[in-house]
Amino acid sequence: MPRRGQPRTATRLDFGQSAAILRPLPSTRLLADAARFHGHLGPWLVLGLKAGRHARRKLRTTPFTLTARVFCPSRTPYTCFIDGIQFGCGCTVGKGNLNHARSPRCRVEFIRTAPARARLVLNLRPEVWNELHESKSGKGRAVAALGRAIHRRPVSSLFLIDSAPGR
Ligand SMILES: [Zn+2]
Repeated sequence: MPRRGQPRTATRLDFGQSAAILRPLPSTRLLADAARFHGHLGPWLVLGLKAGRHARRKLRTTPFTLTARVFCPSRTPYTCFIDGIQFGCGCTVGKGNLNHARSPRCRVEFIRTAPARARLVLNLRPEVWNELHESKSGKGRAVAALGRAIHRRPVSSLFLIDSAPGR
């Protein structure tokens, strides 16, 4: 409870409560929340969401001891991947712990900074890249359906995953 005269925002800025920010959510709720954040539901958003959630789970970290470096082409729909990562792991442009580098393909490198440094790299599998370019899903509902289908797949079927102690 804030004491008299203490600004109410003090409790909201307590980073110690960050574990509550990304509590487990039912997958449909998670997708709906991610789509609300991003503006629409699609496969590239979901790929980022899954990568970000996987990093949070595997590295057992909070958005304050994690950084993300995202590599992908600098245009939509690829950049939707970036928003999915932000929503999935809590690393954000605003906090300064997510940045983007232009690349012809999609991958993301996560670094846990504490308590022990650790690194996790997720490279989008070439067959998934090809599949998304071959699919004639068009816009709207079909794109959302493809996003939901991607969400149902295990993360290892979407990414080549490499983990190692941090460098
Ligand atoms: Zn998008």
